[in-house]
Amino acid sequence: MSRLAVAHVDIASLAFNHARLRAMAAPARLMAVIKADGYGHGLERVARALHGADAFGVAAIADGQRLRAAGHRERIVVLSGPDGPDDLSELRRLDLEAVIHHDSQLRWLEAESVGAPLRIWLKVDSGMHRLGFAPGRVTEVHARLSRLPHVHREIVLMTHFAASDEFGKSTTTMQIDAFEAATRGLAGPRSLSNSAGLLGWPRARGDWARAGGLLYGLSVVEGKTGADHGMRPALRLCTRLIAINRVGRGESVGYAGAWTCPEDMPVGIAAIGYGDGYPRSAPSGTPVLLGGREVPLIGRVSMDLTALDLRQAPDAQVGDEVVLWGPELPAERVAAAAGTISYQLTCGLTRRVLFMEA
Ligand SMILES: *Cc1c(COP(=O)(O)O)cnc(C)c1O
Repeated sequence: MSRLAVAHVDIASLAFNHARLRAMAAPARLMAVIKADGYGHGLERVARALHGADAFGVAAIADGQRLRAAGHRERIVVLSGPDGPDDLSELRRLDLEAVIHHDSQLRWLEAESVGAPLRIWLKVDSGMHRLGFAPGRVTEVHARLSRLPHVHREIVLMTHFAASDEFGKSTTTMQIDAFEAATRGLAGPRSLSNSAGLLGWPRARGDWARAGGLLYGLSVVEGKTGADHGMRPALRLCTRLIAINRVGRGESVGYAGAWTCPEDMPVGIAAIGYGDGYPRSAPSGTPVLLGGREVPLIGRVSMDLTALDLRQAPDAQVGDEVVLWGPELPAERVAAAAGTISYQLTCGLTRRVLFMEA
């Protein structure tokens, strides 16, 4: 069977966004965050496009294994660090760096007696209350790590923001203050900002920025698209129309009859659904592009198929290309309609989608 749902990943856009983010971050260095399979764009593909990155950020050691296996020699930071004591030797073997955020990890390190110096990113909980040591513990933890001969002498001090995409809110200012107070006088580079931090919080530039979303041309800032920040969306999700039917006034379309035709009208069926990762929560009215024109999705998104209102596209033909999101239709608009964020759309694409590089 041919595969109609295709994700085109534009390598040049990834490289463009990377260069732009590096310039924005300078003189700080930039960690290119490529966790979750490069936000769904493909881990190895993204790493190749970002060759020479100052560092890559991944969520799991398994991602580091894949990157090393593909021959990447860049610095790689495992953002949640070791999951057990045995992970320490694997981190060293692959020359991966570890975020240390919890006492259990500290104890595993202290229980070691040998090993090449492991590079550590010490995570401070400045207020998000997800991962990290409480501010009052940071001096002690830093001292304990600094004492270990098998820990690299340069320890990066890092924190993560809970609401840096809300530029008017004081949450981030308070987090920056808490981080600065907790780390005052401690040696080591600082790393605070994610994509939104880089955009909205120059005070939090530090020595290392960590960008994910913007690398892919995606935004989490309410009402803004990646392009609004000067980035190029790197992924275009396409499929084709496989049927056009005339449906009578008063007839309902799709599961649960969730949409009823207000008049006799053409209904297109596109070969895409939640089985491909298109969100089932996308309601009637969600925009879809057909021949460069927006048409509304109608009824329930099903596993393999999605219905479109073709009243504004009278020339549509079976076989026409349908764009679900991409540079011409920001993923942020689809995400907003579906009650989610653009990151989840790209991360959620399934193995059924054929990935192609453009
Ligand atoms: C995912 C992640 C980032 C990147 O966040 P974006 O909003 O995608 O830029 C940065 N730092 C940490 C610790 C992360 O987990």
